[in-house]
Amino acid sequence: MPSESLTSSHANSETLLTVANLSSRYGPVEVLYDVSLEIKTGELVAIVGANGAGKTTLLRTLSGLHRSQAGAITFADRDITNSSAHSTVHAGMCHVPEGRQVFAPLSVDDNLRLGAYALRKESQWVEAEMENVYSLFPILKEKYQQEAGTLSGGQQQMLAIGRALLGRPKLLLLDEPSMGLAPLLVEDIFRIIRELNAKGVTILLVEQNARMALAVADRGYVLETGRIITSAPAKELLNDEAVRKAYLGY
Ligand code: ATP
Repeated sequence: MPSESLTSSHANSETLLTVANLSSRYGPVEVLYDVSLEIKTGELVAIVGANGAGKTTLLRTLSGLHRSQAGAITFADRDITNSSAHSTVHAGMCHVPEGRQVFAPLSVDDNLRLGAYALRKESQWVEAEMENVYSLFPILKEKYQQEAGTLSGGQQQMLAIGRALLGRPKLLLLDEPSMGLAPLLVEDIFRIIRELNAKGVTILLVEQNARMALAVADRGYVLETGRIITSAPAKELLNDEAVRKAYLGY
């Protein structure tokens, strides 16, 4: 297995997120064991792993939706271990949950505005950010008055990402953005993720679709039954024989 090294383009960036020896459980069932990882400002990092490996639990623990049992989370120089979800949003961590979870009866426009609500920013700022999101996802602008529940899966995923961007994230957490989408839409979503990162958004992406995730990421971690078993630049993981056999199917 390859050893970890940061990609050269981010070698001088500051560390944005440090997770040290994190453990989580549901009641008596341990799900994450001693997970450690690091993300630098500007990076796109993928965590890949099979169904049930603990990817969603890891993101929920980072963003304060689930309590950790042990370990520490440092974000933007602050200890946020077991902070509430609203304080992690205020700190700049915006979570796009698995299954999108848009507010189905509300319009596209209102769903986006809810993303800015927690920050209570002045309306001028919100309008400018809304325009940014609409220029990133023109289809959402076309459908801005439509009920979110009537959008296609891919459009709902764009809406969920757009809503998180209204929170002005220092770090965007994306949970299985490709789940349930047709292959062409999966490609669209990964292209958008790459574009967002190129615009300067730091991203932590968890995915079962390891091939696509590692194709867009700078670095990757492999999570297996709650443990990080390896980490490396994404290109190295794509060429690693054990990773290929276990997660890429060739
Ligand atoms: P998937 O891709 O299927 O979402 P995952 O890698 O995200 O998988 P998790 O959803 O974090 O994995 O689940 C990790 C383990 O924790 C699984 O064994 C799952 O059954 C268990 N689990 C998840 N949520 C709960 C819960 N609310 N209560 C009890 N066990 C849970």
